[in-house]
Amino acid sequence: MLLALAACSMAQKEEEINKEEKVKKVIKSDKEWKEELTPAQYRIAREKGTEAAFTGKYWDYFETGHYDCVACGSRLFKSTSKFNSSCGWPSFFEAGSDTTILYHRDTSHGMTRTEVTCACCEAHLGHVFEDGPAPTGLRFCINSESLLFIPLKEEK
Ligand SMILES: [Zn+2]
Repeated sequence: MLLALAACSMAQKEEEINKEEKVKKVIKSDKEWKEELTPAQYRIAREKGTEAAFTGKYWDYFETGHYDCVACGSRLFKSTSKFNSSCGWPSFFEAGSDTTILYHRDTSHGMTRTEVTCACCEAHLGHVFEDGPAPTGLRFCINSESLLFIPLKEEK
């Protein structure tokens, strides 16, 4: 009886730890972000800016690898979900995982859109639209400045 109780409370504890570790929050002051990011990265990732279409480094970039958050390094998108949308920004039809991206209703600039941010550090990434290709029908329209491409061959 005692043994069974001990095993049960242990399992519960493990579950709580897993829940906490799902998304590790990265919290820094504006000053710290300003020091770590380039002015363009700061303006877009921390101040919800948008780079001009067809100017970012990844809009027509199709190497194999991953796209990480430029601010905190969280893995956001896989190159296998990137597609050529010809909208001028890197476009993905799905997020790399269910937990790394947060969705927010954005009514700025007279439009109703869904803003996407990094779940770890709250960096602004871009917006998601429902005019993407199969299988999801989604188009994550992301600023190049919010991303850092990691080639597959450099991974351990
Ligand atoms: Zn991040």
